[in-house]
Amino acid sequence: MAEKLIFEISQKGKKSYTMPCWDGCKPIDIDKKFLRTEHIGLAEVSEPEIVRHYVNMSNNNHHVDKGFYPLGSCTMKYNPKINEKLSSLDGFTEIHPYQPEETVQGVLKIYHDLADMLCKISGFDKVTLQPVAGAHGEWTGLKVIRAFHESMGKPRKKIIIPDTAHGTNPASIVMAGYEVIELKSTEEGLVDIEELRQKFDEETAAFMITNPNTLGLFEKNIKQIAEIVHSKGGLLYLDGANFNALLGIVRPAELGFDVMHYNLHKTFSTPHGGGGPGSGPIGVVKKLEKFLPVPDVVEENGKYNFNYDMPDSIGKVHSFYGNFLIVLRAYIYMKVLGSDGLHKVSENAIINANYIKKMLEDTFDLPYKQNCMHEVVFSSENLAPFGIRTLDVAKRLLDFGIHAPTIYFPLLVHESMMIEPTETESKDTLDDFIIVMKKIAEEAKTNPELLKNAPTTTPVRRLDEVMAAKNLNVRYEKK
Ligand SMILES: *Cc1c(COP(=O)(O)O)cnc(C)c1O
Repeated sequence: MAEKLIFEISQKGKKSYTMPCWDGCKPIDIDKKFLRTEHIGLAEVSEPEIVRHYVNMSNNNHHVDKGFYPLGSCTMKYNPKINEKLSSLDGFTEIHPYQPEETVQGVLKIYHDLADMLCKISGFDKVTLQPVAGAHGEWTGLKVIRAFHESMGKPRKKIIIPDTAHGTNPASIVMAGYEVIELKSTEEGLVDIEELRQKFDEETAAFMITNPNTLGLFEKNIKQIAEIVHSKGGLLYLDGANFNALLGIVRPAELGFDVMHYNLHKTFSTPHGGGGPGSGPIGVVKKLEKFLPVPDVVEENGKYNFNYDMPDSIGKVHSFYGNFLIVLRAYIYMKVLGSDGLHKVSENAIINANYIKKMLEDTFDLPYKQNCMHEVVFSSENLAPFGIRTLDVAKRLLDFGIHAPTIYFPLLVHESMMIEPTETESKDTLDDFIIVMKKIAEEAKTNPELLKNAPTTTPVRRLDEVMAAKNLNVRYEKK
């Protein structure tokens, strides 16, 4: 049964708390002029009602704590509970961003040390933790790139991306005031070096790529790519959303990258989805350090302070200092795993993806045959003769309690299905998934109607997603 809106169960006068009253207890005396005069329109429900409402809603949803979530590009790994436990301590949640620095030394140390750890594993000279999403990191990085080129005389006009780029890349490029130039991939799914050489001129500010790319393939010519870009005075930007495949294996700065964003909410655990909250720090090489957002957290003789004295900085990109509790979760995650643990994360992420690739290569089309990194892209074009599309496969998976992979992205693969198992899944879970995928492929041939009508076991059935997107209505109207 669909859960009612909380406003529909609201009844005037109900409260979701009980407070003891003792002799002499009376309300705090607040001057009338500070009191609200109008009802603010919140729902009024009892404590058990509110608890059940949210528990029921979470039961209607799929989430990482409930089952397998192989949503490619998103790295929906399991988030260790120790992250939650520690980051909910009062010492972290009850502080204020404007407290005097001497009263939050521990927190400043965490900012300082996490930035340091991110530098160490990526080879960059300096990291800012201020941006609050991958896309926000991209935009911040591109602002830094613009500031650098301006300091060299002119900002330049264009930024090149491959046709496999994540949608946020062209969007951030336009937001940063640049024109987007798209590069076609080779048959192998990699950057076409010759085309890059032709297109990258002195009006091009940067080449922005993901490595491994969104097909899950490592750009093996990356050093040559860096040479081409640098020979024209350009900069090389790494979309680090796929860093889960590189931890402890390779440091991006050593491959020739000048700027990179990290998605702390992907690579370094932290629950995510539904638009936030996240954290998208950026790392840069020495010559770009001075353009980073203000303030920086600096350490001097064991004392930590904010440094606002950064005349070349692009300025602030978010209120206060970014999403501290996400930063904190990443810090805990890295501290718990240590450098050996981080290395194993990437090894296992890569092994898991290649296992799925091998086990399903005869069941679905596999457009790129070489070994993949942490994710693998299939296509369901082989099911087209039965009238079945990738959307149907994805919807049917929900009936088995498995979240669908990313579908119809990357755009250059028809009917694509992008599967990212992550390192946190056991071989048993992967085997169950493989069995289900084979079963669905079989159903496509024997009972396509079943797939067309899926899902049949979820709280809501197949939705008209186009209508939902075009006629969005999130307002509660009293009937
Ligand atoms: C997730 C992702 C982004 C954007 O990150 P957000 O934190 O969602 O803004 C950018 N590029 C790639 C390849 C991604 O997977």
